[in-house]
Amino acid sequence: MIYIAQFFLYFLVFMAGAGIFSFLNVVVYRLPRKISFVTGRSHCPSCGATLRWYDMVPVFNWFYLRGKCRDCRARISFRYPAVEMLGGVLALLCMHYFDESAAAVAAFAFLAVLTVVALIDADTMEIPNGLVIGLLIIAAVAWACGVEPAWKDRLIGLVCVSVPMLLLALAIPGAFGGGDIKLMAAAGLFLGWKLCLTAMFLAIVTGGIYGIYLLATRRKGKKEHFAFGPFLCVGMAAALFWGEQLLEWYLGLYHF
Ligand SMILES: [Zn+2]
Repeated sequence: MIYIAQFFLYFLVFMAGAGIFSFLNVVVYRLPRKISFVTGRSHCPSCGATLRWYDMVPVFNWFYLRGKCRDCRARISFRYPAVEMLGGVLALLCMHYFDESAAAVAAFAFLAVLTVVALIDADTMEIPNGLVIGLLIIAAVAWACGVEPAWKDRLIGLVCVSVPMLLLALAIPGAFGGGDIKLMAAAGLFLGWKLCLTAMFLAIVTGGIYGIYLLATRRKGKKEHFAFGPFLCVGMAAALFWGEQLLEWYLGLYHF
């Protein structure tokens, strides 16, 4: 019986995360288009048919409709259920990795905003300031609730990556976008300096590999840019869950 109860709890947490990220899909679509995301029912972008309440069931609905609009049969991008599944998985990871509920909720809220940042940056090459302010508010609330890290670590986190990025951008115009710099300042206040540095390291490695891939396959020229925000966001998510272990392992390499 206990296993069934456990499974049911996990299922509920997954669906709650997927439901919240289903709303984030709406935010990602509407925010750059300056449409209000609190009013107005969701509708099919092809035929304009309003979605019914049973079309709102995260993940399952897309598979049930085989990725097509119920009315006009237009294709619905796999990105929507993928983002919803990501929300479910992140909710489960937050529950698993943070024993304290305030820390788990703060981490999930942080990851939710990062997801919106990553998708909008990938779509438009811009990070809206409202999202950076959202991250600052989450960091301040987590700080006020006594969630780790300590205040000194948070304040160093605010500047330890953002200031070097700013200096580099001033020295080499176009090295980083202003949005990336603001993002790393706000996120650093949440993560603290250790995880913020780890996140930057992961972003540079993965972004670098992607850049080499683009050059090698001649998809982009040397002078062209690609959005770095998604790599920063993935790096921060990985650092949030596994940063401590990664640091221990990395520093352990230098123990003779
Ligand atoms: Zn339609």
